[in-house]
Amino acid sequence: MNKNIWSLITLSQPNCNSGIMRRIQILSVYFVLSLIAISIVSPGIFSEGAEDIPPLTMPATKPNPDAHIDVYERLEREKQEGYLKGKIEIIEDNYYFTTKQGFDYIHLEGSPSDIGYYHGLLLWEKIERGMASYAFLTEMRYDLNWDLCRVQGATYWPNIPAEYQLEIDGIVRGCVEKNARNPDGEVIDRFDIVAYNSIWDIWWRSSYIRNIIPIPIFQTDTIHHCSGFVATGDITTDGGFVICQSLWMPYHLPPSHGVFADIVPEAGHRILMELQAGMIWSGTEWYLNDAGLVVGETTLGDAPYQWLNTPAFVRIRQAIQYASSIDEFANIMTTNTNGAYCGDYVICDAETNEAGIVELGSHTYEVWKTDNGFHGSCNYPWDPEVRAEMEEPEGWDHGCYPRYMRLEQISQKYEGNINCEIAKRTLGDHWDMVEEKENKCHWTLCGHVENATGYPHGSLDGKTTNRTMTLNHETWARYGHSCGEDFIAADHAKNNPDYAYPNLRDMIAQPWTTFGFLEPITITVLDKNGEPVEGAQIAFENCADGYLHEGITGPGGMYHHPYFQTGTYNITARNGEFRGTIYVEFNQVNTLEISLTDKSDDDSHSSETQTTFVIVGLIIAGLLFVAIYRKSQKKPEQD
Ligand SMILES: [Zn+2]
Repeated sequence: MNKNIWSLITLSQPNCNSGIMRRIQILSVYFVLSLIAISIVSPGIFSEGAEDIPPLTMPATKPNPDAHIDVYERLEREKQEGYLKGKIEIIEDNYYFTTKQGFDYIHLEGSPSDIGYYHGLLLWEKIERGMASYAFLTEMRYDLNWDLCRVQGATYWPNIPAEYQLEIDGIVRGCVEKNARNPDGEVIDRFDIVAYNSIWDIWWRSSYIRNIIPIPIFQTDTIHHCSGFVATGDITTDGGFVICQSLWMPYHLPPSHGVFADIVPEAGHRILMELQAGMIWSGTEWYLNDAGLVVGETTLGDAPYQWLNTPAFVRIRQAIQYASSIDEFANIMTTNTNGAYCGDYVICDAETNEAGIVELGSHTYEVWKTDNGFHGSCNYPWDPEVRAEMEEPEGWDHGCYPRYMRLEQISQKYEGNINCEIAKRTLGDHWDMVEEKENKCHWTLCGHVENATGYPHGSLDGKTTNRTMTLNHETWARYGHSCGEDFIAADHAKNNPDYAYPNLRDMIAQPWTTFGFLEPITITVLDKNGEPVEGAQIAFENCADGYLHEGITGPGGMYHHPYFQTGTYNITARNGEFRGTIYVEFNQVNTLEISLTDKSDDDSHSSETQTTFVIVGLIIAGLLFVAIYRKSQKKPEQD
């Protein structure tokens, strides 16, 4: 049962220390407007041809140490170079934490309360960072300080299902145990986590009020958020779908956005999502579920707010947890909507191989889906009704249209060849359709708004997957700009003193890597006589991204890991010559028995083979020499 909103409000201890009158003013405006609103509101363009389309440039890449050498040599080198320095693993019965290529990577399962509690416990530092960043942004853009955000967030509490109320309270417990602090320095409480989760709903409501009453205290600028596309059928390399998306936000947020979570709730589907630490929804807009749905999002503009209805953060979490098809997803997203977080929800279904977009306005929406086609998405409302509801311009007058047209170009240029590699390059693309040149700015698919205006904002990550990977619950992701460029806070401050915010940190791009569900594996290592080998070292190399994991066998020659990423791995066991492959699959018993051969036997075998090759080679060479010599001796006689 939902707890009464007033019971939540009476728990608050607002800390008004400045601008009290202004806040009272704002609150009054909200209150009056809420009452009024509740009473009236019930709940082939580039015909030059493909040759003229600028190609996707290969994004800058860092040296990739995946040369085909002995994996132990590589592990050793990576350790020396610090690649694995600081890598930690926490393994418990129903949660797991590790790090991978710039991301935190966690597994949570159990009751809503447990899922929330371990979330808070594992990610509290990033929750502090994320909450402070969102508080900073909200004050800057909407002049709502964190106290007001907390009050605003509380109004959503009655619209949060009990399952998610428990999860939110669980996050609070985990944070409290770690003494995590809100932006005002107070120990985090329920108000903080509710406000933080509903912050986009709060922004939408604030924008709506600002739009109907132009109060000068509210300030917003043109916001460019996210690039992506969906493709399926003839346009892709293998006929299966390809989907991608990059999150654009101010650079105050990293690294709090960089978390991949494998969540096993008691009800509904298992979820893999990139999440903004502390949120029960993604907040970075990348989800997979075990029904085979993949969802991304690029945000659209303001539309009429619908009071008392279900907030966006609840609908999106419900949709990914309970929907099994594009239509079910659209139904949840559009039912009882509060009109917040309008966006293009790019979506693919691995069961049907359909690609689609749910373009969500407030009272309007459009569901586009196909089993053969391409659709770009980049904050441009392509549906006429949705666009009209948002009162946004059409075509080149819209600031996000250049990226939309660039996606059209790419779909033509790479028709029949679209795959995850093209998606990665698309997300890292710097072709500016306005200036018609390579130009890292706000008009390019890889967002570098800081180069255009100085404001530190742009792409924080990239994600892509295809049908094959989705069926195995896997996705590619890259921390930082998809092009591989770093954001260096000190350099930015030097070049843009007006935007030298103290809360900016370096964002160092990491290599593309994969994430998936985490499943148990058991490896048993036996010697050539079939006896178990304790202390044997095993290296697992992910066949997709080359990422290495190593383990050591215990008693019985067994190596067991309860949370191992789904995927295909090359396995090497040290002190022997075993090389093999394991397919770690969802809901399967992932076990493998490795029989080692004796290394010295193998070496001698190898040298015998080499000797045989040398002898055979010499004999063939000798015979050829004799044949050529005889032929040359016969020539004069023939003449
Ligand atoms: Zn870039």
